[in-house]
Amino acid sequence: MIKNYFEVSALPEGRSSSDFLWKPENLDLKYNNVDFPTDVLLHLNNIRRGLEITCFGTVSTIIETKCVRCLDVFPIELAEKIDFAVRLIAGAPINSQLWYEDIVRVDPASGKIDISPRVRDAVLLGVPTHPLCKPDCKGLCPICGANLNHGDCGHTKEKQEKQIDPRWEKLKQLLENKNQQGG
Ligand SMILES: [Zn+2]
Ligand SMILES: [Zn+2]
Repeated sequence: MIKNYFEVSALPEGRSSSDFLWKPENLDLKYNNVDFPTDVLLHLNNIRRGLEITCFGTVSTIIETKCVRCLDVFPIELAEKIDFAVRLIAGAPINSQLWYEDIVRVDPASGKIDISPRVRDAVLLGVPTHPLCKPDCKGLCPICGANLNHGDCGHTKEKQEKQIDPRWEKLKQLLENKNQQGG
């Protein structure tokens, strides 16, 4: 059962916790080169003092994305912090949506908050813009395209020994010309 709404008015006084679960398709998660193969979980800790409620917790899921260096698909575990405060005010909306507001105003009688927009944003903000399968990913061979993490194809050493970076070559020429002109 998908629970989008957080029934804040039903929370007990003091400390409590709430858990929510979404199928990725129900959060409409879309991102270039990223798959969302697992459920999205939200664990919230709540502290209620009368009409004021503070909520903080973690959104977690596993995404699959492509390494920018070697193009291998690999999983990343996301754990994104989320926090907000709720103020129960008579006459406030019965259903509120949680976006970027710090304080959500809800009616105390049957107040509910749709937390899915914030959860969706938390997941999407957690997607790295430059994903690397490991910090020292060796990438692809520029000559044969082999994934160098899986072994050495023999091209890399050869290239380093024989070729000077063309940019340095140009700089060397410029410096030589300058020396000739000045001297
Ligand atoms: Zn990689
Ligand atoms: Zn190669």
